[in-house]
This record gives sequence, C-alpha cells and structure tokens, in this order.
Amino acid sequence: WSSLDFPWTKKLEVNNKKVFGNHSFRPNQREVINATMSGCDVFVLMPTGGGKSLTYQLPALVCPGITLVISPLVSLIQDQIMHLLQANIPASYLSANMEWTEQQEILRELNSDYCKYKLLYVTPEKVARSDALLRHLESLHVRDLLARIVIDEAHCVSQWGHDFRPDYQGLGVLKQKFPTTPVLALTATATASVKEDVVQALGLVNCIVFRQSFNRPNLWYSVVPKTKKCLEDIDKFIRENHFDECGIIYCLSRMDCEKVSEKLQECGHKSAFYHGSMDPAQRAFVQKQWSKDEINIICATVAFGMGINKPDVRFVIHHSLPKSIEGYHQECGRAGRDGLRSSCVLYYSYSDYIRVKHMLSQGAMEQNPMISGYNRSNMSNSGRLLETNTENLLRMVSYCENDVDCRRLLQLVHFGEKFDSSTCQKTCDNCLKNTSFIEKDVTEIAKQLVELVKLTGQKFSSSHILEVFRGSLSQMVKKHRHETIRLHSAGKHLAKGEASRVLHHLVFEDFLTEEVKKSDYGSTSSILKVNEPKVRNLFFGGQKIILRFPSSGKASKPGKSDA
Ligand code: ADP
Ligand code: ZN
Repeated sequence: WSSLDFPWTKKLEVNNKKVFGNHSFRPNQREVINATMSGCDVFVLMPTGGGKSLTYQLPALVCPGITLVISPLVSLIQDQIMHLLQANIPASYLSANMEWTEQQEILRELNSDYCKYKLLYVTPEKVARSDALLRHLESLHVRDLLARIVIDEAHCVSQWGHDFRPDYQGLGVLKQKFPTTPVLALTATATASVKEDVVQALGLVNCIVFRQSFNRPNLWYSVVPKTKKCLEDIDKFIRENHFDECGIIYCLSRMDCEKVSEKLQECGHKSAFYHGSMDPAQRAFVQKQWSKDEINIICATVAFGMGINKPDVRFVIHHSLPKSIEGYHQECGRAGRDGLRSSCVLYYSYSDYIRVKHMLSQGAMEQNPMISGYNRSNMSNSGRLLETNTENLLRMVSYCENDVDCRRLLQLVHFGEKFDSSTCQKTCDNCLKNTSFIEKDVTEIAKQLVELVKLTGQKFSSSHILEVFRGSLSQMVKKHRHETIRLHSAGKHLAKGEASRVLHHLVFEDFLTEEVKKSDYGSTSSILKVNEPKVRNLFFGGQKIILRFPSSGKASKPGKSDA
C-alpha cells in the first residue's frame, strides 16, 4: 500500500503540502489513504497525535462526493471544522443540539446537485436516531455522491473496550444500507478483542488493518504507593520536576478534583478543577484558561481529555486508579505530544481498587458528560458489562502491583504488541530500579490454573478463576458450586499478586485465550479457553514457566487477597 504509482499519488503530494502544509507523510498515513481510496474497508490503529485526521481529510479533498464522518464529541467536531474551513475545505456538521432551521439548511444543501460540502460530521446518535439523515444519505448514495464513511474513535463501538457508547452500536446500519461505500474506522486504542468486536459490529468486509507501535518513548512511567501524604507527594513531585509546567491530574470523583486543586493552589501552583457537574460554560472557561497557559494544572475526572490537543503537557498524574489499561494508556497519551520528555505518575493504593470497584457496581463512574446519548442505566443494568469492567480494573491492579516487569512491556502486551524491554532504556520505574530479582519456577501453579479452567468447563473469566483458586466463597463461586471443585483454594498459600501474574502470563503467552462472548442480551464478556496444542507442551513436553519476582519486598510477603 505504500506504492507511489496510484493514479492519485501526485494529487495527494500536492495537496498534502499546499492545503495541509505538511512536508511529508507520517507512518502509515500514505498506506491508509491508498487503501481507502482503492475502495477497501480499512481499520486504523494509530496512537493519539499520529495524524489520523489527514487519512480521511486528504481523500475527502481529492475525491468527488462527500465524506461522512462520525465523531463522538461536538467540541471535537467544531474544532476540526474550524481547521478545515481555515484551509478552505468546505465542511459542516449536524448535531442534536443545533437549531432546527440550521439543520434543515444543511440537509437541503445535501440534496442539491452541487452540494458544496466535502465533509459532513455527525454525532453517532444522529445516525442511530434520525431517519431524516439516513434518507438524505440514501439520496447522496443514489447520486453517487457518498464517497466514504469514517468512524472516528471506533473503539466506542465495543462493550469490551473501556469507552463504550451505546449509540455507536447502531452504526452497523451504515454498511447495511451502503454496502459499496468504503468505511474507514479509526482509533487510538484497541486490543485484539475490541478490534474484532468493532469489525463485526460495523460489518466491515475483508477489512485491511493498519497498526503501529503504541509505545511512546518520550513518556516516563512510574507507579508510586499512595499514602496519606499523597497530596504533599504530588506537590513535591511537580515542584521538583515540572514547576510551572503544564499537566493534568486525573481524579476519581468530583470532590477529589476540587480537593486536589485547592491543595495545589495553597502550595502555590496555578491549578483549577474540571468535572461533569460544572456547567458547559464553566468547563469551557477552564479549558480555555489551560490552553492559554493562564493556569497550568488541571485536576479532572476522565470527562476531561478527548479532543484535548495541547502539545506541551509535561505530566499526567493519576491521583487514583484508572479503570483500565486502555484508559490509562490513552490518558497518559495526552502528555508529550510534542515528543519531549514527559512524566506519567500513578499513585496506587489497594483501597482505591475497592473504591473504584464499588463505584463500578453502583454504575457511578463519571463518563464524559458531553457525549450525547450516553445511557447510564443501560450501563449499570448489565451484569455482564460489570464483569467486563471489573476484569479491566483487575488488570490495572495487577499492572500496579507488578514491580518487576517493564511498564511499557506491560502496557503493550495488553495491545497485543511484542516489545523488547531492553529498548525501554530505563524510562520506567521498574527498569530503573534494577533491583535484584529471583527467578521462580511457577510451572506447577500454571498447570493448576490451566486445569482449573478445564475443570470449570472453560466458561469463566480470569477473575472468577482466580477467586476459585484463592479459595473465595463468594456468591458467584457458590452459585456454580465451585467451592467443591478439586483445585478450589489450591493457591491459597501464594503471595499477593502471584497467581494473577501467572494467570495473566498464561494469557499473554497464549496458553490460555480470552474469548469475547456475546450474551443473549448482546453484552460481551471474556471467557478463558485452553489452547490445547500449546498447553500440551506444558504438561507433557517438560516446558517450564519462569517468572521474575523481586528478591525482597511485596511479592514475597503474604498479603491481602491476591488481586
Ligand atoms: P490524531 O487524530 O491521530 O490524534 P491528528 O490528526 O489530530 O492526530 O494530528 C495530530 C497533529 O499532527 C496535528 O497537529 C496535525 O496537523 C499534525 N500532522 C498530521 N499529519 C502530519 C504530517 N504528515 N506532517 C506533519 N504534521 C502532521
Ligand atoms: Zn521499562
């Protein structure tokens, strides 16, 4: 796909320079453009800041017809349109909170034979709930004017992901109605199972996948124990490393945001808070102050972030546990877009895990309030979804409790990426520590876990398997009578985190696979299955599994329940 011999190559070169002011293409941009312009369905995984917009804006400019772009956030859309209009590319958008007459005018323009727009942006609920829009798209399609359909932030389609939005699930209708129109799905975050989910839900055909490394070499990662003095620690960290520089502190609750911001102000930092209970004008005001460097620290819930394009964010601090590794990776990704060294520090305590878990079960997590069509009750009603969320959270816990492996490796493995941790160059706390390790043969534990997966019929998630292994007598365990199973509590004596590390290792190394399963109600969860050919080596081929543990410290002491 990197060929320079496509009929449109010259046109791309010229317009990339002249209209977009770029001297060259970034990795995968040319490839994606060639594939989508050839009429293929394309799925693109590109890290934040990688340049996804160009991969559809440039084709939109050089192809006849209109490109439909589905994007979750009105503020993001407005920002894009402003840039397009500045470059003299006619573009518009439709959203539910627009004046009726204004919407009518745009729809009328779509109907005209000389429709001036090259791009039309819409929010997903417009597609899911507006017949008028679909009718107009049909009319464009009939007149051969619907050039391409772009799904931005495509991971939102998947319940399996960290950022599910119900209205995205309705987007499958587009491929049904316009099977011949190429679809381009874009995301900065997706595991293999999320990708499968998205491809299926959107009905993409023979889709071509482009992905590039999610490693961000200029970000320095560390996890720090969270103590009562956490706020003093944060103040000290900023003062010593990033004084007067720009950063984001992610907090769990609205109250935390306000508390942390107040404390930092007392310490002499220019900070403000940002969360979903503020009215839109207040939020916009804070965001503007921050963009203009009038304040330099923003204490925010996850409501803050999508569509933030500030290049010089020097640190992202997590005041409490993120909900998932995907979410964490994306939140950290807001630091250092200019490529300069930036810090990502996570303050971890086990009690935060309990707190987040509780909030998840109450359906009380703050989602992005600006997203239209977000359906809270839908989220909290689904037990399956809760299980998925809990699973994502547990992985985050095991990331935090791992004080041996390279942080980059741990994150990238989650995205199905192989990573040689020697290339980390001591830019994460675990690589930097370089303490002595003991290598431990965990083959027996591994075998027991595999057996347990079989004994329970290959029907359960990793968190359930771990519960049974540790000897839990939870409702779920009892419901399936798993307290009576042979290996129930076989891992009781193990140190904190050990069993989960072994189990996750088995998944990462493909001894066990996680299968995304759809329930009758349409929700998804992950089920552990045994990969027989690989496992045979473990049981009969004499294969050993060796993991590294720190020679002193946490992992060797018995602790709280193994998360
Ligand atoms: P993403 O959507 O992947 O996060 P954007 O499309 O917003 O990334 O692009 C990030 C930044 O990179 C923008 O400022 C954009 O102008 C710039 N950019 C994109 N492609 C190129 C390129 N080929 N050369 C130089 N700058 C580029
Ligand atoms: Zn490392």
